[in-house]
Amino acid sequence: MKKAHTCLGPEGAALVEYIEYMRDSGVAEHWGPESFLWARGDTTKTEGCVTRENKDAPSPYPASSGTAKTLGEVREHIGDCTLCKLHKGRTNIVFGVGDPNARLVFVGEGPGRDEDLQGEPFVGRAGQLLTDIIEKGMKLKRSDVYIANIVKCRPPDNRDPEEDEIAACEPFLLMQLEAIRPKLICALGKFAAQTLLKTKEPISRLRGNIYDYHGITLIPTFHPAYLLRNPKDKALCWEDIKKLMALYDK
Ligand code: URA
Repeated sequence: MKKAHTCLGPEGAALVEYIEYMRDSGVAEHWGPESFLWARGDTTKTEGCVTRENKDAPSPYPASSGTAKTLGEVREHIGDCTLCKLHKGRTNIVFGVGDPNARLVFVGEGPGRDEDLQGEPFVGRAGQLLTDIIEKGMKLKRSDVYIANIVKCRPPDNRDPEEDEIAACEPFLLMQLEAIRPKLICALGKFAAQTLLKTKEPISRLRGNIYDYHGITLIPTFHPAYLLRNPKDKALCWEDIKKLMALYDK
């Protein structure tokens, strides 16, 4: 593991060491958002739009300089990451794309074949549907929002990401969120919603609700790939997107 840390630079290596320390000391559950994002507190279900009064609080992340990194710095930290086994099969690390000051971040599961080849999230068939949701549904440009994934390397044969892979990669997503500080997150599908909300509830139960994710309003909805297989659920997704749109303009 030590070797893998060197590609992340001194602060990245410190982050990984911290995560390992938390794991080894039996508090693995606590190296996630609670210990990382600038705003602490429980993730709660909420009916209204949340405030962000903690936005300017210093990061509680022990190895950070106290200020959020830029997206470019986060990308540099990730480097040529070998923290989990997914690095062995990847063509490109799929970091994320969009406006670094986006008010809305979409979080998917992980790159598929097209994304792995192009190095950009959501560029395949599911990506086209997501683009339609953003552009035809929400009347925004794809470049107005930010799009990222829970894991940044393609799982082989498009299998689900495994727990150790999510655990290795999630801190990088949290660093991205810390850099962007969006007003809204839309979690696309089971893995994004369950990972961010630290729950095993099925997406069918999570969607339809609005959550407070450390001061950011989080709305889960179905993954576009699921919607391609189950088009009848597009109507439910549209209900979720309408909630996002109402909050986006507030
Ligand atoms: N599915 C995802 O979850 N993310 C992508 O980038 C592409 C497909």
